[in-house]
Amino acid sequence: MSTQDVHPDATVRGRTWSWREPERGEHFRRCSWCGSIHPEDLAAEPSWLPEWADQKYGWPHKFYVDVTNQDPERLYVIGSSWGPSVPTGYTVEWIAWDALTPDQLEVARRDGYFDRDRTPSFVYFGTRPKHHAKFYTIHLSDPELDEAVKHTIEQRSGLAFDFEDGRVRWRRAET
Ligand SMILES: [Zn+2]
Repeated sequence: MSTQDVHPDATVRGRTWSWREPERGEHFRRCSWCGSIHPEDLAAEPSWLPEWADQKYGWPHKFYVDVTNQDPERLYVIGSSWGPSVPTGYTVEWIAWDALTPDQLEVARRDGYFDRDRTPSFVYFGTRPKHHAKFYTIHLSDPELDEAVKHTIEQRSGLAFDFEDGRVRWRRAET
């Protein structure tokens, strides 16, 4: 078992998956293949609750987790004419892409609202108290993962995992 075996299918043109440095105004690393938060960064978060994904999609392979934004005043693009639509009863201030100030343009680019030559016609900004992250439990099989980090995530998520010979077993984590 090597780190690469976490995502054996992830090799594209000779390059395997890797940890991407924080981007888009987040403070934690994500997996370049599945987008999972880095286990070390998750274990270092002071408080979080897992929301397990439905097991009909496989073994307890994934949970969603809200991570407190360390910079709650920071602005993000929280919606655009690309969607999703604004919920009924909610008022936002749309700004035309061509009218963005240089600072706003930088935020929009940082947040990924620039796809080659395509941009949305309108965007709107807001703060984000929490980042929506997800954790793929296959990352607990990484042989380079610190045992204490694995233990912390298992305790706080409620499930402990054993990975052996290409099999996975899980049980209630001991408290
Ligand atoms: Zn991954």
